[in-house]
Amino acid sequence: LFRLLPFIGQLNNARTQFANSIHSIDIVEDFLRKDNKPFQTRGIKPFERLIEGIQFEGVDFAYPDHEKLVLKQLSLWIPKGKTIALVGSSGAGKSTIADLLPRFYDPTAGRITIDGIDLKDYEIKSFRRNMGIVSQDTFLFNHTIRYNIAYGLEHISEEEIITAARRANAHEFILQLPQGLDTEVGDRGVMLSGGQRQRIAIARALLRNPDILILDEATSALDTVSERLVQEAIDELCRDRTTLVIAHRLSTVQKAHQIVVLDGGQVVEIGNHEELLAANKYYAHLYQMQFRDKEHKNSSLITEDIS
Ligand code: ADP
Ligand code: MG
Repeated sequence: LFRLLPFIGQLNNARTQFANSIHSIDIVEDFLRKDNKPFQTRGIKPFERLIEGIQFEGVDFAYPDHEKLVLKQLSLWIPKGKTIALVGSSGAGKSTIADLLPRFYDPTAGRITIDGIDLKDYEIKSFRRNMGIVSQDTFLFNHTIRYNIAYGLEHISEEEIITAARRANAHEFILQLPQGLDTEVGDRGVMLSGGQRQRIAIARALLRNPDILILDEATSALDTVSERLVQEAIDELCRDRTTLVIAHRLSTVQKAHQIVVLDGGQVVEIGNHEELLAANKYYAHLYQMQFRDKEHKNSSLITEDIS
């Protein structure tokens, strides 16, 4: 149990200056390709829309060329339209779970199904198109704000871009920039603050409107106002969308329909915030520790290696 405890506010950490960014799976594939082994893409069933939910069924996973199982008999139900939060100490397997969903890797044993059908039977492009990833890796192109919001999409009108920017709490700051939407963001978005970059990335995801969202939250060192604006934008993005979130922010965890507590690649506890507090076990300890530390306004539920 106490392996889970050393989490809490690692603020003012240089690594937390990296902002979240949201990118399409296509971008992820281009820039973050993790898997070098030839990938089997034999699935042919086109994926249309999620109807019921996503199920991990007794999933074991070991990384290629590694013996150690990092996920052990993992079962997880992610119902359509709900937000499921993963919490747990660093190395518990959270990011690995997030990587299995777009099939960056496949389970070693067990399977993952969408609406009862094995992920491997779907045409990979068609379900990746319906997945959005919000990750800790900053990614904005050295281009205009307009380009960054509309990237990868065709026939997007000015109005749609503005609507997305507004929903992402980005419209106001964009209006104040000298060239508005046509302002250049610089290399990796250096001309913008961390919170602004995150909101641009959220606007991009809103415009893509993926059915399934995978969110790896960062514990960014944002000021209070920026933090609130980003949180609102994330709430807007998750609303009515099927979301798997690796949660650091307490607000996200509290709002999640279900919180899955992981340790050593296994689910050790599952329930909503109130249920888990009442159970007074792992999660309750995490929570209490965070409050003990509450003068740290950016304190995090987990000690997470942001790099
Ligand atoms: P978390 O996101 O909860 O911190 P991860 O899913 O990143 O945990 O890691 C789970 C375990 O898998 C850890 O023991 C980690 O060292 C190992 N691991 C992660 N990525 C790789 C990789 N590419 N190759 C081998 N082992 C990995
Ligand atoms: Mg991780």
